[in-house]
Amino acid sequence: SVDEEASAKVAATSAESGGPTIFDKIILKKIPSSIVYEDETVLAFRDVSPQAPVHVLVIPKIKDGLTQLGKAEPRHSEILGHLLFAAKVVAEKEGVVDNFRVVINNGPGACQSVYHLHLHVLGGRQMKWPPG
Ligand code: ADP
Repeated sequence: SVDEEASAKVAATSAESGGPTIFDKIILKKIPSSIVYEDETVLAFRDVSPQAPVHVLVIPKIKDGLTQLGKAEPRHSEILGHLLFAAKVVAEKEGVVDNFRVVINNGPGACQSVYHLHLHVLGGRQMKWPPG
């Protein structure tokens, strides 16, 4: 609805400023999550509000200024590559490696709501193009 869209935009805008996010608590395992893959530098866990049968978020364990992709610096190249590779590993583990989508929402205009870089891995249904 129009109301839902407006409140999503407000939440997205107010969250943009940075600071700790709910993902810190997930990394620290202070709040529960359904972990799909984890290594020294990245964590992948199921989205609490899945938009497809498979919907997993892949995040860096150390934010290091990466509130969003648009803030990436050359020093982030290695973790960015590793996140993308981890997305492929997640797709394999979830059985969707032949048909999946990776999404990064950057900024309020793209409805980013959590300001800790994350890749959405979506699969298990036919995707449409263009995305909304
Ligand atoms: P949007 O909320 O528009 O999808 P983002 O790209 O910032 O924007 O995605 C944040 C994602 O984090 C959302 O898909 C949301 O469902 C998910 N999320 C929020 N809190 C949790 C949580 N505690 N555990 C798992 N996923 C979460």
